[in-house]
Amino acid sequence: MSDEPALQEAAAALRDSARPVIFTGAGMSAESGIPTFRGGKDSLWSRWKPEELATPMAFQRDRTLVWGWYVYRMAQLATVQPHAGHWALAELQARWTALTVVTQNVDDLHERAGSSRVLHLHGELMKLRCSVCNRPFTGFDVPALETMEPGQRLEPPRCGHCDGFIRPGVVWFGESLPTKTWARAEAAIRGCDLLLVVGTSGQVEPAASLVGLARRGGARVILVDPDESAHAGQADLHLRGGAGAVLAGLRDAL
Ligand code: NAD
Ligand code: ZN
Repeated sequence: MSDEPALQEAAAALRDSARPVIFTGAGMSAESGIPTFRGGKDSLWSRWKPEELATPMAFQRDRTLVWGWYVYRMAQLATVQPHAGHWALAELQARWTALTVVTQNVDDLHERAGSSRVLHLHGELMKLRCSVCNRPFTGFDVPALETMEPGQRLEPPRCGHCDGFIRPGVVWFGESLPTKTWARAEAAIRGCDLLLVVGTSGQVEPAASLVGLARRGGARVILVDPDESAHAGQADLHLRGGAGAVLAGLRDAL
């Protein structure tokens, strides 16, 4: 866990803040049991790099491999729960009613803990849509995790309108971020006076640039991460520890 003086300093900064914003990455979900891409050990799929599966080209080239990986992640998501850190952030939203959560995560753990105003920069895993006509696709039955084999290939369902293959609702490497969501995230971060950055390595652009945007606007930046992060040099404070204990501690210290 992070040291106590740093936690108290962060709590004081948060108490003083009129317009805080929260920015989360894969590390936010790690303690719920969803592995991060970097440093994670999702052994079943460690044969492939996410950058090799999470692209439009990969889906075109080998759709059953890519869809199988996403269905595995959907099945995994169905088995996990928000942790103390997700609940703590939702409680902060009760105190700062305009508080926005900007997340790179494609899971719905913030929402399940009761957070509202969650901006998903990289889309949402379960918002399935047609890869051709973009129409939403509902009614997909996610198989139970224990019925899936490691590296299992699966044929994606077909769109009822154009027969195109269904894809997950995530932003793939090489694709643009959802325009409105990005604009809302930029606006929130440009106007914030404190940015709480949780569990992101700072290696995926343009999301990572939001930390610099906050700094240029004069906001304090507080980092929550057990390890180094590309954002360390931009942070006023680095609370070293897992999101669960640190965020719950921060809430308690307010
Ligand atoms: P990343 O995997 O690059 O980095 C994760 C960061 O979290 C690291 O700095 C690591 O030290 C830190 N971390 C690990 N355990 C932590 C904990 N318990 N508490 C706090 N921090 C912890 O993640 P990223 O920067 O979000 O970039 C990865 C990309 O992969 C994103 O685009 C994201 O959409 C995607 N992704 C999403 C999920 C998800 O939705 N849950 C999971 C994996 C990857
Ligand atoms: Zn279609």
